[in-house]
Amino acid sequence: LLYNQVQDLKGAIRVYCRVRPFLPGQTSAQSTVDYIGENGDMMIVNPLKQGKDARRIFSFNKVFETSVTQEQIYADTQPLVRSVLDGFNVCIFAYGQTGSGKTYTMSGPDLTTGESWGVNYRALRDLFHISKQRADVIKYEVFIQMIEIYNEQVRDLLVSDGSSRRYPSSIPVTCTQDVLDLMRIGQKNRAVGATALNERSSRSHSVLTIHVRGRELVSSSILRGCLHLVDLAGSERVDKSEAVGERLKEAQHINRSLSALGDVISALAQKSPHIPYRNSKLTQVLQDSLGGHAKTLMFVHINPEVNAIGETISTLKFAERVA
Ligand code: ADP
Ligand code: MG
Repeated sequence: LLYNQVQDLKGAIRVYCRVRPFLPGQTSAQSTVDYIGENGDMMIVNPLKQGKDARRIFSFNKVFETSVTQEQIYADTQPLVRSVLDGFNVCIFAYGQTGSGKTYTMSGPDLTTGESWGVNYRALRDLFHISKQRADVIKYEVFIQMIEIYNEQVRDLLVSDGSSRRYPSSIPVTCTQDVLDLMRIGQKNRAVGATALNERSSRSHSVLTIHVRGRELVSSSILRGCLHLVDLAGSERVDKSEAVGERLKEAQHINRSLSALGDVISALAQKSPHIPYRNSKLTQVLQDSLGGHAKTLMFVHINPEVNAIGETISTLKFAERVA
């Protein structure tokens, strides 16, 4: 194994926290993030509370402050991504309330400018790069799938009829251009089914899956690895007194699937004998890549605005539970 330094991460759950910068027009007068330590600690200050209840420290594997670039984020993700070429299954999640930066981390703000590309594109580019370097030892093939999970229904984003098939299409890709083309198709198909794209995308989970198959040229033995890149639905609590009808149903599906994910990951972290995969579509889809020989990375996203403090604290508590 070329990347055996990540061997010890097998089965382990890593949690990274990323703090979104204030956006143009937002007053950056006050941030709820008081400080970020080098060892993965962060201090959150709750302006609604007084005295010692107003401050709390959370600890993760890493905390990225607002000025961290997409490139730096990927640098800390790369070992996990590369281990897919050694036959590991890897899941990378983006968790957080709507507007906290999940899509920015995974996809980037758009698919046009290289510098801002997110983890998805950088991961594929890197996989192609490394597979070329190994071409005289292993011949790799790469396939991608894109699905959306909305109200516990799986939708294939690589077909335009939006059908929910039993097996989503799996498309072979050989270069980064293929990938960009498919990502654009996926984004377009996602928009077609939606009344308002932003609304819908924040209430569904999107999963980009990369399957890798490698054949060693000398021995002809085959290895398989797979990488799931998951942009989760917004984690914000919906006020039950306000949500009705469709909106309430969506909110209940999201709450249930995010807590099912939390339950699975914390059961894995505690090495519990029973892992409750069956409780949501999301955990069923990812079952083979969560636990066992698989590796998991959770990016939790924080909006530093004072009026987001309630969601910030519940996001960090969720993350603490799975860490
Ligand atoms: P989410 O997917 O969690 O709803 P987005 O990724 O859409 O949130 O981010 C919300 C807004 O904040 C977008 O306009 C996005 O471009 C911007 N944004 C998020 N994270 C960053 C960041 N790290 N740097 C600059 N802008 C960001
Ligand atoms: Mg989003």
